[in-house]
Amino acid sequence: RAKAEYDRAICYYEQDMDEHARHRRDMARDLWTAVERGGFYLAYQVQRSVSTGKVTGYEVLLRWKRPGHGDVSPADFIPVAEECGAINAIGLWVLRTACEDAASWPEPYKIAVNVSGIQLAQVDLIDTVRNTLLVTGLTPGRLELEVTETAIIGDKQRALHILRQIKAMGVSIAIDDFGTGYSSLDTLRSFPFDKIKLDRSFMSEVESDEQSKAIVRAILALGHSLSVPVLAEGVETHEQLDVLRKEGCTEAQGFLLGRPGAINWEDLLEASSSA
Ligand code: C2E
Ligand code: MG
Ligand code: MG
Ligand code: MG
Repeated sequence: RAKAEYDRAICYYEQDMDEHARHRRDMARDLWTAVERGGFYLAYQVQRSVSTGKVTGYEVLLRWKRPGHGDVSPADFIPVAEECGAINAIGLWVLRTACEDAASWPEPYKIAVNVSGIQLAQVDLIDTVRNTLLVTGLTPGRLELEVTETAIIGDKQRALHILRQIKAMGVSIAIDDFGTGYSSLDTLRSFPFDKIKLDRSFMSEVESDEQSKAIVRAILALGHSLSVPVLAEGVETHEQLDVLRKEGCTEAQGFLLGRPGAINWEDLLEASSSA
């Protein structure tokens, strides 16, 4: 009897796996089609100084309108793009398009572009970044690359070499989703990051939970002592922003400060002229 149940469970499991694999295969095929024919676009999310509220830059967030499915979340399609290798071509498109956009903006804001660990491992990112800046005319100081700790763990020495070369061009490097990886402190020690992006999971409980607040405070203190500015992700409420202000956080990003989307220059120019 146990054997029959076991067999049945395995059978369900395999059916599930088949279905899962089929979904991923179909998505991979559609991703490659989008690479060739288009279908991606970029959303920009504002980053602001906590003390003054002034815009400091924009994070570039990739969007995909998948035929027959509508908008798919990058959290769902980036892992598939990484698995099937499409991330390299997609990443090139994101970098190129974002730099072109930013070079044409009326205000010289910084842009922060997410870079996958696969790109770090497989693409000649040093040449890619250099050429993109050259072709688009964007000043290196206006570009920031966001890498997660997990993006660096593969061939760590190689990854750090690449990041150092890119940093030497004047491009800045931020560590993304800080606090959720498993080697945070070691990563910080081995690479001079220009910014720490505190993962948004800490934000959701910062008002109600003393533990979360203590961790946020500790990471801010770490940033202070290393002279690395900390940006808090996922700020959704005024209460959260108040905590960050009290604790001396440098920058913030989140739905409270601006949702990802197209840049509304009229609002921004109006705001800066009336300020
Ligand atoms: P991330 O780099 O940590 O980006 C921040 C994510 O948090 C974005 O999700 C953003 O829309 C979301 N977010 C911002 N403010 C709030 C808030 O107040 N509350 C909540 N709940 N969420 C907020 P999104 O756009 O869905 O992107 C998810 C992840 O996909 C990104 O996390 C990044 O890891 C990856 N991703 C996005 N674009 C790219 C890209 O061009 N290349 C690569 N390699 N990865 C990308
Ligand atoms: Mg990011
Ligand atoms: Mg993040
Ligand atoms: Mg994230």
